[in-house]
Amino acid sequence: MDARAELRDEVERLTLVDHHVHGAFLVAPDRDTLENAFNEGSTDPLPEWVSGFDSQLGFAVRRWCAPILDLAPHASADDYFARRAALGETEVSRRFLSRAGVSDWLIDTGFAAETLLSPGVMSEFSGGSASEILRLESLAESVILDDALVGDYPYAFRAALARAAADPAVVGTKTVIAYRTGFDIELSRPSDSDVRRAAAVWHTTVGESGTARLVDPTLLAFGIYAAVDAGLPVQFHVGFGDRDLDLKRVNPLELTDFLRDPDVQRVPVLLLHCYPFEREAGYLAQAFANVYLDVGLAVNYLGARASALVARSLELAPFAKILYSSDAWGPAELHYLGARLWRNSVTEVIGGWVERGEWSLDDGLRVIRMMASENAVRAYGL
Ligand SMILES: [Zn+2]
Repeated sequence: MDARAELRDEVERLTLVDHHVHGAFLVAPDRDTLENAFNEGSTDPLPEWVSGFDSQLGFAVRRWCAPILDLAPHASADDYFARRAALGETEVSRRFLSRAGVSDWLIDTGFAAETLLSPGVMSEFSGGSASEILRLESLAESVILDDALVGDYPYAFRAALARAAADPAVVGTKTVIAYRTGFDIELSRPSDSDVRRAAAVWHTTVGESGTARLVDPTLLAFGIYAAVDAGLPVQFHVGFGDRDLDLKRVNPLELTDFLRDPDVQRVPVLLLHCYPFEREAGYLAQAFANVYLDVGLAVNYLGARASALVARSLELAPFAKILYSSDAWGPAELHYLGARLWRNSVTEVIGGWVERGEWSLDDGLRVIRMMASENAVRAYGL
């Protein structure tokens, strides 16, 4: 057997830790909902002349997901949707989740969780285990909505965080500050008195509107530092996402001063997605011992171009700092496809280096195992 074939065989057998992922759909999406879920940038309905299937992601679904539903590769979008609907969402989810080859799902339950399978059901359908990642902004919003707690917001937030983190299922935290202010703000540690003042102002606006969405930079920074002080890994949404965020304000290089803080350097900081800033993220992973990155989400969206992204993620970053994630949300296709395209990409990229004699087969396989699971196991203490 040649080296590339041997590497491919090994890669197919590996189980993955998907360190950033959400639940799969609870109920079957209609055609528009499914096609919309194939477009990350806009949450608006797609124009009638745009099909979510006519994209790198849509083509990859027809190529790689169709056979899992007993269709030929490249089945038409109409045939694909009809087959999916005929099987029903439970069967679709069971097939895709169990075929992803994921041993551990680290699930962010912070967005529209009521429309998605719970971690317990994700575990049951896939055969893998499921842990939870706690969203810091959601925790802050629950604290401010609870009138009894706002007398001393810093105390109340820290206590709520300690309570949540005491659950053995919780293995880390996540911040969506990218969606709230971007990174080009003052992200140093605020004093408790500044935090109390900011919380009092926020509490007043919450009282008027009855809803809470944390956008105050002082309180966002406070939440992140509370997680750091609690010794918890902190995931940052970086780069690509829907247009609720301002892509030009979420370049991870804006986090450099924050990463220089010695307190921050005591916990793993995990830069999620990163596209189109994967090279900047790779630099930060080299510059700071506690910084990790993945290229999840974009691997699915780049489809046939995913291997170019995976190759770029293997430039500056030390190999002990690169993790696998799908960042799938909604269609169970995405939970499977992330793993499928990642396996294809590492086989193509690293297999190519092995074939050219740049890397040994043993080194190639060792690095692939690090990225597949070992780095995540170490970073989160799984
Ligand atoms: Zn996500």
